[in-house]
Parts: sequence; C-alpha cells; structure tokens
Amino acid sequence: MRQAKRIMHLPPYLFAEIDRKIAEKRKAGVDVISLGIGDPVEPTPPHIVETLREAVKDPENHRYPSYYGLQAFREAIASWYGKRFGVELDPDTEVLPLIGSKEGIAHIPLALLDSGTYSLVPDPAYPVYSTGTILANGESHFMPLVRENDFLPDLSMVGSDIVRKAKVLFLNYPNNPTGAIAPEDFLIDCVEFARKNGIAVCYDNPYSEITFDGYVAPSFLQTPGAKEVGVEFHSLSKTYNMTGWRIGWVVGNSGIIDALGKVKTNVDSGIFNAIQYAGITALAGSQDCVKEMCKIYERRRDLVIETLSGVGIEAVKPKAAIYVWAMVPGGYSSAEFATHVLEKAGVVVSPGNAYGPSGEGYIRISLSVKDNRLKEALERIKESL
Ligand code: PLP
Repeated sequence: MRQAKRIMHLPPYLFAEIDRKIAEKRKAGVDVISLGIGDPVEPTPPHIVETLREAVKDPENHRYPSYYGLQAFREAIASWYGKRFGVELDPDTEVLPLIGSKEGIAHIPLALLDSGTYSLVPDPAYPVYSTGTILANGESHFMPLVRENDFLPDLSMVGSDIVRKAKVLFLNYPNNPTGAIAPEDFLIDCVEFARKNGIAVCYDNPYSEITFDGYVAPSFLQTPGAKEVGVEFHSLSKTYNMTGWRIGWVVGNSGIIDALGKVKTNVDSGIFNAIQYAGITALAGSQDCVKEMCKIYERRRDLVIETLSGVGIEAVKPKAAIYVWAMVPGGYSSAEFATHVLEKAGVVVSPGNAYGPSGEGYIRISLSVKDNRLKEALERIKESL
C-alpha cells in the first residue's frame, strides 16, 4: 500500500521519537531522566478532579457532546478572558472549545489554506504549525527566530511574493522552545501586517499563565484590531496540569472560528461533557494553584540556569513557559550534544534543530520534572562534561 504524498512529506513527530529513544534506553536498564517533553508532573488540582468525578456519574454526560462545546464552558472561557485580559468575547460566535489546542492548530490550515498558499511559520517552533500545513497541502515559509532579535520574527524579511500567497501567520509567545516573550509594539506590528496583507494571525498562547519575576503575559486579543485579523489558541493543559485531559479552545475572529468549526464538525464530535464541566471549575475556581505552579517552575528555572552557567553553558533566563533554551557548548551540534547527554548521563534533552534549522546550536530543557530528578539530571550532565 502506497501512502499519500502528504504523509511521506511529514517528518516523524518529534516527541514520538523522543519516547521511542527513552523506551529503548529503559529496556537496556538505564535510569533515564527525561527533560525532553513539556508535560507537567504535578497532578491536576483536586477541586478540578472532583468536578469530573461528579460529572462522570450523570448519564446525561455519557451522550455525544455538542460540536461547539457546552454553552456553560464557552461562557466560562469568555468570562475568564474578560477577567484576565479585559477582552470581551461573544461566547456563541467567538469561542470554540477544542480537544486540546493541538487539535485546533493542526486543523486550522485545513480551514484557511488552499494548495499553493502559505503559512508563515516561526523557526524554531512547535512542530504542528508546519505539519498541519503539510496535511492541508499548503506550504510553510519559515521565519528565523534569532537571539539578536529577541527570538521575534522579522516580518519585513518575508519576500513580497510569499506575503502575497500567505494566508496564515503562526505566532507563539510566551514561546516554546525559546522562552521568549512578545513586547506590545511587536504585536501591534503583527496586527498591521496581517490587516494590510489579508493574513489570518493564529496566535498560540498556552503558556500565558506560567510566568516569572512578576511578568504578566498578554493575550494577542488585547492588541487593538487583533480580533479583526486573528484568533488565539489556548489550553488548560499547562495552566492546570491537564495535558492528559485534552481540552483547550480558540477565541477571536468569528469568521476564522466559523471556518474551523466547519472542519471540526466533519472530523470530531466534541469534548466529553464531564471534562468540560471540570474545565469550568478550573477557569472559574481559585487560581491559587496556578500561582503555586509558577513558583515551582521559577525555582526549577533558577536551578537550571545556575547549574548550566556553572559549567559554562549559556542560556537565556526565560520570563515565562516551562523551558530553558540553552546554547550547546562549543564543538557540539545540537544533535551531538543531545546524544552525548543521553549516552553519558542517561538524560534526555531536546536538540534545538528538531524545532527547525534556526534551533541549531541550542538544546531545550523542560522544567516539567520533579525537583529531585531535575537536580540529579543536572548533576549527571555536569559530570558528563
Ligand atoms: N502549542 C504549544 C506551543 C505547545 O508547546 C503545546 C504543547 O506542548 C501545544 C500548543 C498543545 O497543547 P495542548 O494540545 O495540550 O493544548
């Protein structure tokens, strides 16, 4: 059986590859510590779990959910955006629940691209922007994120022939994998660029609540005119340690949301209602659990930065998200250093180039690992050098 051309063009999914390597080493008896994946190890807060427990018992929730999510969940999302960002949303037309934000990000190119048209994709980036584009038979134009430009894309460097064919601009701040944040004037420029060129901004914001040193991350939709040109993807995954629950949303431009909704009604049948009720509790309940997680990640970030700098590895101290983007020591490529650390220390880190060619020269260290294991991993890396 011959696979479709678009599947042959798909690179293997990065984290599936990392999982495979870990399994191989563990089978060989190595006590592997993975700093490879951003997946919180702390449990989902108990008040959220409790709502699920109760909601599971109700047979009404055992039936197909609504394609567009529970009205009450859409209202909870709109109300959270109002409280948190001062952004007003119509829960009926400007909010659409997703089966995790990855699902919506992977499907949005199907809603907006035709063959011969382009997504503008940061490099390095979360891989789904470009792989979703491949699945929609679109083309990706990669925009390098370099340290000298604070890991922001330079939109003026995108050629006019590409701009003409571009339909989607993916952006993600606080950024995975670099940990960079977006200044207000950059977001203003993005809105203007998108408006002028008829491009839909798909702003990916799953780390907005995980911030350090007093930094408060914005919503893209706070930028004047943003709702006319774009949408924002968000998720309960990282904020409330709910990666396994598969629940997120997209908010903003009603036309873009309508187009994505059309794709989704033909592909999936919504999110288990009990999980949506738990999502309401997460958004409407006490946010102390989020503050607690920020403290934990901040402590781990400091430990990583301090240890790396002690062995001469330079890293940008991130103000948000759950990653440290560190420069590989001289003489190694990203892949060589990741392999060295796995072979000599039994520690998994992600090679920067796996997120795009401009990630070469970096590794990404995830902070989603218990403190004692993180300490041990860092000790082992130190010794391996
Ligand atoms: N976007 C970015 C930048 C991510 O790092 C992730 C997950 O790691 C996602 C989106 C997807 O998150 P989820 O599908 O769990 O909402």
